Amino acid sequence: MLRQVADGVLIHESEFCQSNAVVVHGPAGVLLIDPGVHDHEMAGLANDLRELGQPVAAGFSTHPHWDHLLWHAGLGSAPRYGTARCAAAVRDELSDAGWKARIAEWIPPDIVEQISWDLFGLMTGLPAETARIPWDGPQVRIVEHQAHAPGHAALLIEERGVLVAGDMLSDVLIPMLDLDDTADPIEDYLAGLRVLEGAADGVDVLVPGHGSVGGADQVRARIDQDRAYVTALRDDAHALSDPRVGPSAAHGWEWVGGVHERQLQGLAQRTERDGTPG
Ligand SMILES: [Zn+2]
Repeated sequence: MLRQVADGVLIHESEFCQSNAVVVHGPAGVLLIDPGVHDHEMAGLANDLRELGQPVAAGFSTHPHWDHLLWHAGLGSAPRYGTARCAAAVRDELSDAGWKARIAEWIPPDIVEQISWDLFGLMTGLPAETARIPWDGPQVRIVEHQAHAPGHAALLIEERGVLVAGDMLSDVLIPMLDLDDTADPIEDYLAGLRVLEGAADGVDVLVPGHGSVGGADQVRARIDQDRAYVTALRDDAHALSDPRVGPSAAHGWEWVGGVHERQLQGLAQRTERDGTPG
């Protein structure tokens, strides 16, 4: 169930939206990035790690969206990190007494049933500008940028040639802009892509938060594809041609077209409200 994608780096793919949990081996346990969604899947992951004799030494959430903030008791009580902005957004969300119901509204009912909220979002924000995840395994560089969600971070495991992209650079999901938390979601997203581009040299394995793992050739290709999508949103959405939207969407991902439509509406509403594009 765990699949090796690089030396000492394994992934577990969830049934939910092809979510990828990433396991990085260290000398005294593993770093676990975005552990998963279904409770039974995380229990299985905990079992696998136990059988390998690998406790979880640290956790990390790439961004403050529900599908990246879950945890299972069997994974233990290691510190779970995120960027300072990510942790602040989670804290905000959990300070509302009705948080569970509010988040659950976004989740298909059959999935909600398979989720445990017990250890949801219990994380430690790393001080702003923290360069690396504090743990004793391979160095993991935090590549933070303001795209998709507040405090979104990709992770670069340089010595393994792996870039964990969070919810960017997916082959199945279009760039989903953060329309609520930023003054200029389109330009922020493009800036985020430039940050990823700057970190992409020497990357052999790209692991998106959702979708297929890509090889070296995919890094540049997906950055270009995401940039073309976002640029089209800015300049001329009618000219958009993206394989992830419309009849060419992957099987099971036809709903991404709806995400695209809602995104267009959201941007149009912002323009009306602010009188400025984007
Ligand atoms: Zn996600």
